[in-house]
Amino acid sequence: MRGDNGPVRPFLIGSTWTVGEGQAFESINPATGRSNGMIGGASRADVDRAVQAAKAAQAQPAWRNMLPHQRAAILRRIAERIEANATELAELQMRENGKLRAECVEQASNGAGAYRYFASICETMPSEVAPSRGEHLAMVLYEPFGVVAAITPWNSPLTLESQKVAAALAAGNAVVLKPSEFTPSVALRVAELALEAGLPPGLLNVVTGLGGETGAALVGHPDVRLISFTGGTATGKAIAREAAGRMAAVALELGGKSPHIVFADADVDKALEGVLNGVFSSTGQSCIAGTRLFVQRSLFDGFVERLVAAAQALRVGPPEDPASQVAPLSSFVHRDKVEAMVAMAREDGGRVLCGGTRPQDPRLADGAYFLPTIIGGVANSARICQQEVFGPVLCVMPFDDEADLVAQANDTAFGLACGVWTRDFPKAWRVARAIEAGTVWINTYKRLSVSVPFGGFKESGTGREKGYFGIRTYQEAKTVMVGF
Ligand code: NDP
Repeated sequence: MRGDNGPVRPFLIGSTWTVGEGQAFESINPATGRSNGMIGGASRADVDRAVQAAKAAQAQPAWRNMLPHQRAAILRRIAERIEANATELAELQMRENGKLRAECVEQASNGAGAYRYFASICETMPSEVAPSRGEHLAMVLYEPFGVVAAITPWNSPLTLESQKVAAALAAGNAVVLKPSEFTPSVALRVAELALEAGLPPGLLNVVTGLGGETGAALVGHPDVRLISFTGGTATGKAIAREAAGRMAAVALELGGKSPHIVFADADVDKALEGVLNGVFSSTGQSCIAGTRLFVQRSLFDGFVERLVAAAQALRVGPPEDPASQVAPLSSFVHRDKVEAMVAMAREDGGRVLCGGTRPQDPRLADGAYFLPTIIGGVANSARICQQEVFGPVLCVMPFDDEADLVAQANDTAFGLACGVWTRDFPKAWRVARAIEAGTVWINTYKRLSVSVPFGGFKESGTGREKGYFGIRTYQEAKTVMVGF
């Protein structure tokens, strides 16, 4: 099958690869503006077929009654296949979202790690015997939901998709995965590897297409019992409203506007590096980016001066160049949005201390590049401090006392992450406890691990992924009482 721009890449329903009945779409490399090729679009009918394939596969005794250690063995084989094909997977992601190659390679390895982690959880996690309040045995069992819809964004498909699919399968579900229209290829290739690894067909289906069509059809499908979504807060809210209509469960990992706090007694060199990486790594396209910097007033001017110099020294360049530190934004549409938000900050009185424009380097003219940007002269209430940019844009603000700082840091709709730099541990502890966020880092930033729960307070989402009880997100508790 061919589209306007070459052959159309099919997606997976059960064991069948199909280009679908929906509109095919084009994947564009954001570093060059060139086409990566056409991808099949899943229509509502295709989505229904994928859900039915998942439902049938999940109901098979071969899967429902498979012993946990046998399920774990399949997950481990998927991890091996991902690892063996890590270079190719990293390349696929890099071509679609423009992330630095080194980061993509690391994420491929972390993706395999998620399958191994949930394999281990799957075969070691016990059911429970609850304290008895009578003449009976009270047990708590954990059952799969059935069909899980997994919907993912473009910034890190290698890790975000693995942590959803591995946990959902470990829990005994079947999955229909809808990757972002900007990054469809990793999901398609991992699904192929999963089949090679012996995952029974139908347990992992991938439907590619646009959010408003393919994604909406999946969210609205009556046989989808849990929607596990990572993406923007507005989309997450719309999904939660739709799911509420039929009492489908939701797990939502949404946006952030995380405070990054530097006290005057911090190790300044380390804090500087943490703040720089915390906001500009992944070109700022990270839900946990530390985008609101609060620096204690006595340190503020000197710290910001050094930060601006360090941001200007970052090497912006092609994702495949090992010397590059900041790659392009993930799409041209997204760069337009980031540019518009910097213009909005200027309108609101913000001073652009560095960046704020596309780079002048002619080598980068065809890509969706944008310079690391620092904005001063704004209050925490400014739109640029309250709205998620999801790009390389940092706002800097001084603070005087701890109580005021905590109030400002919490004065946001979001609650995903926070960083605190100080040598005074009791103070760090007080602040960590007072901050409304799913993750707080003390004297470090942006450290992630599959072994700890991840998710947000407030409008950053609901539910947790990863960690020992990440698997519970994909299960329902069932009480069984046995009378004596
Ligand atoms: P979006 O919310 O636009 O999209 C996320 C996914 O949802 C995509 O697959 C998208 O498809 C799909 N989608 C869009 N509309 C609908 C709909 N009506 N019904 C069902 N699915 C839909 O987010 P982005 O892709 O732009 O990702 C960036 C956002 O993700 C940021 O806000 C960021 O903070 C958040 N994020 C959160 C993380 C966390 O763990 N908390 C981690 C990473 C990112 P399509 O691509 O076709 O539009």
